[in-house]
Amino acid sequence: MTNYRIEMDRAMCISCGSCVDSCPDIWEMAADGLSSIKDSENEGDIQKKEIPELGCSVEAAEKCPVTCIHVFEDEVELI
Ligand code: SF4
Repeated sequence: MTNYRIEMDRAMCISCGSCVDSCPDIWEMAADGLSSIKDSENEGDIQKKEIPELGCSVEAAEKCPVTCIHVFEDEVELI
């Protein structure tokens, strides 16, 4: 079975909202004004989440102007 994971470095986020617009199932704007992965595991500024399928995650990563979103398939970085 293929494992997918998304990671985001919130320290780089400039609050443009693009990821939330393109993939609201996964991302939301948090109370601190930065984007946030819903129900993620957090290690400092890094958020991680296993996802069952890619869905709109790659599109969100592609549209992030500061490339702080990364998507992995079986530990291989897709973007
Ligand atoms: S697209 Fe990137 S910079 Fe814009 S809100 Fe999402 S994570 Fe932040």
